[in-house]
Amino acid sequence: MQFLRLAGATLCAVVGKPIAHSRSPSIHRFFAEQFGMALQYERIEVQPGTLAKALEQLHNSGCHGVNVTVPLKEEASSIAHERTACVALSGAANTLWWTDTGALAADNTDGTGLVTDLVRNWGLELAGKNLLILGAGGAAAGVIPTLLAAKPALLQVVNRNQARAEALVARFEALGALHVAPSNCPLAPVDLLINATSAGLRRQVPELPPGIVTTATYCYDLGYANVETPFLRHVRKLGAVYARDGFGMLVEQAARSFERWHGLTPETASVMARRLPQKGASEASRFEIRT
Ligand code: NDP
Repeated sequence: MQFLRLAGATLCAVVGKPIAHSRSPSIHRFFAEQFGMALQYERIEVQPGTLAKALEQLHNSGCHGVNVTVPLKEEASSIAHERTACVALSGAANTLWWTDTGALAADNTDGTGLVTDLVRNWGLELAGKNLLILGAGGAAAGVIPTLLAAKPALLQVVNRNQARAEALVARFEALGALHVAPSNCPLAPVDLLINATSAGLRRQVPELPPGIVTTATYCYDLGYANVETPFLRHVRKLGAVYARDGFGMLVEQAARSFERWHGLTPETASVMARRLPQKGASEASRFEIRT
């Protein structure tokens, strides 16, 4: 691990593999600007199985806080000495820091980031609504406890590998109305459809149970891109009118990490507005109709 330590700056980092694409450094720098804070935020590629060693080096360099991304979130949870309830439930952590006694503490801000983007930024009401999440990986595990805390009438989980969806539901079903649904059988329309699969990273679209998308369905893709994501393009062709990608979640989960580390609450709207308009963005933004 090699980086030049900037004198007088607070050191934070994001670890994962791959890591070059991460937008966390620019988001955290925008937050730091709001408080006149000198922040050094490094991207560090870490091999699975070597996170503890990397964290020890970072701590020895005076690092204040670390964000964790794919595929290290479960490893981060398992090596932490102290876990928030969300990490204990989900078994995945995206935010690490060291306590005054030097203990490694872990939180997962993905669920709060998602729900803040859905409720505060997009204006959705989740209580009493019919939700469906596609995917049963680390991201789904991280957000399901927070989604259930918002008291939906039902949260259905659909995954390509149904046994994995069943295992996930078994972990969380005590928290609320959570069921597995098959991906290939027709289902009643849902109020909110969330794509938490990684299919979009390979420009693919997960199989959707027939009948779930109508013009009234809100569609949210945890994936984000400078152009309309494959999932959002697909649901638009199925008739969806309301859709949003996961950039807002990314900014909101980062804001919760920033709060954890620095005790300061950054303003997020201006950071989201700094998302650069890119090729194809006009099509995507016409598609997104805010309520
Ligand atoms: P995982 O590798 O843990 O899980 C991947 C999931 O996607 C599995 O359920 C897998 O199904 C499913 N999947 C992959 N390819 C396909 C396909 N072609 N068709 C159907 N299902 C598929 O990944 P994560 O859960 O950690 O991440 C999921 C996504 O969420 C990523 O795109 C990630 O970038 C995004 N994310 C966004 C965040 C944000 O802030 N916006 C925060 C966290 C994650 P199976 O079990 O059958 O293999």
